[in-house]
This record gives sequence, structure tokens and C-alpha cells, in this order.
Amino acid sequence: MAAVILDGEKLAASIREELSREIEALRKSNSVPYLTAVQVGENPASKVYVNQQKKACNEIGIGYELKQVQEDITEKSLVDIIEGLNNDKKVTGIILQMPVPKHIDARRVQRRLSPLKDVEGMHPFNMGMLVYGDPKIAPCTARGAIELLKSSGVSLKGKEVVVVGHSEIVGKPIALFLLQSQLESATPTVCHIATRDLASHTRRADIVIVAAGKPNLIKADMLKDGAMVIDVGINRIPVLDAQGQPVVDENGKKKMKTVGDVEFDKAKDKCSFISPVPGGVGPLTVAMLLRNCVECVKEQKLEIV
Ligand code: NAD
Repeated sequence: MAAVILDGEKLAASIREELSREIEALRKSNSVPYLTAVQVGENPASKVYVNQQKKACNEIGIGYELKQVQEDITEKSLVDIIEGLNNDKKVTGIILQMPVPKHIDARRVQRRLSPLKDVEGMHPFNMGMLVYGDPKIAPCTARGAIELLKSSGVSLKGKEVVVVGHSEIVGKPIALFLLQSQLESATPTVCHIATRDLASHTRRADIVIVAAGKPNLIKADMLKDGAMVIDVGINRIPVLDAQGQPVVDENGKKKMKTVGDVEFDKAKDKCSFISPVPGGVGPLTVAMLLRNCVECVKEQKLEIV
């Protein structure tokens, strides 16, 4: 069986189109989404994410500003900046870029963000709304993985879903999304590093969602025939030649490629649906950040009323 490849780029494009219309309507009522990202010090990894955010916001009509602060800023001064943004009427969304230096407790600072401006959906209030089954602003990657899953058109009702990974930003919120409906929820099992015999869980699953950050963790023989697979993992690994040796470029640098956590080439012949890496959940994470930006503005308007 050849799987249907779940195209994250295409789905993200249609979500962005729908959001552009919503942003246009918000503009007409004088509500302009405006995202401020706060970055502590320089970090090459978060620079890529910042550029991606800026581009995505600009394209869709969301204002974007990057506030860079010194690496040695105290936690108290950082909280003051966050609270200043909470009180700034122009700013409708705030991101604290990760990672922050070791002397700052990221969670403690994130808790000081207004939940109505928490575009990453990580504030305990927004996590709590997800537990209540009424998420308005929710963790972007988890929401993206669920959107991609639902785009298959397959009903989740009663399905055995195995989630591999139990982080706060991906695995745990995915499990909560799967339990949202009173009568039509899936039956999630959450596996993690301490799970005994991972394959015994994945082999009985109708749907496997993997977010572990381990290339080739899920082999084709760990999946049942016709399973659906959502691969959230992003891993950079060396490109190998036919002899299994790393391929180098003209400067002698190892060529690298991006892969997920699933042995894609073999798994795709066994599954009904599978998401690729890149081009699967990744584009949806960005689309869900934009959606959260719009939801924040709507929630702020409701609070004013
Ligand atoms: P994390 O390191 O916080 O959590 C990893 C999880 O995987 C943990 O629950 C851990 O127990 C589990 N795990 C690790 N090895 C395992 C194993 N051998 N067997 C079973 N479980 C195992 O990572 P995260 O932030 O949740 O991210 C997970 C992956 O998703 C990473 O590859 C990350 O790059 C990727 N990611 C992708 C996007 C996207 O936009 N597509 C966004 C965020 C994270």
C-alpha cells in the first residue's frame, strides 16, 4: 500500500489565506495584530526562527518587531520589559525567544506574560483551557500536528493513537487535543523515554504521532498495516553515499539533510497516510503561530466588551 502524503505546505497555505481574510476584517475594526519577540542575547538557532516569524507575519499583514536585549540582563529587568509589553496597547502578541541564558528562569518569566498575548500558547492559563477542552490559544506545533491529522478526513473517534514524546510543547498538548470531544475523542497512549517496549505500543496503534527528536526511531516494522503516521521530529543528519560514508561538499564540510523520527522510505509503503519531514508539521507550526496571533486579538476584544 502506498501512503497518501499529508502535504503540510499546501494546508498551511490555505490556513494563511483564511487568516489573511480575518486580519483584513480585524483591520477594518481598527484591530491590527502586532507581534513583539523578545530575544535575550544572540543565538544562531533562534535567529532562524525569528527570521521565519518575521517573514510569515509580514506576508500576512501582522506587524512584527524584534526587541533584542543584552545577554546579561537580570530576570527582574526582563520581567519589567514583558510587563511593559503587556500594558502596551499596540502590542497584541508576545514571544519570549528560547533559549534564554542560564541565569534566567524561562518558565517564571513566561508566567508573567499576559495569557491574552501569549501567542505560543505556553502560559498555564492557556494550557488550562486546553485541559478544559476549550483551547483558543494553544501550543503551535501540537495544534499543527492535529490540523494535519484532521486534514486526512479520517475520524478520530475511538482510534488507538500512540503519541511518542511527552514534552510540554508537543507530546502532552497533543494528547489533550485528542481528548477534546466528550463523545468522539480518540484513545491516546503517551510513550516516552522510560516506556518499556515502545514497539508493542506503536504496533497496535491506528495512528502514531512521533515527537522524540530521534532519527529512525520508528521503523516500518513497528507500524501496523494501514496506520496513519504524523512525524513531528526534526533532525539534521549527514548525507551518506552508497558505501555509507558521509558526503562532503567542495569545502570538505559534511553535507547534511533534515529528517524526521520515522523511517520514511519504508514506512510510506505500509501506512495509509504519512507526513513528510520537511514539508509536514513544520509549515503548520508557523501557520498556527499566525492563528494564535489572530486569536489573541479576538480574545483581547472580548475582554474589553
Ligand atoms: P523534547 O526533547 O522536549 O522531548 C522529547 C520527548 O521524546 C520526551 O518526552 C522523551 O521522553 C521522548 N523520547 C526521547 N527519546 C525517546 C525514545 N528513544 N523512545 C521514546 N521516547 C523518547 O523535544 P520536543 O521539544 O518535544 O521536540 C520533539 C521533536 O520535535 C524534536 O525533533 C524537535 O526538533 C521537533 N519539533 C518540531 C517542530 C516543528 O515545527 N515540526 C516544533 C517543535 C519541535
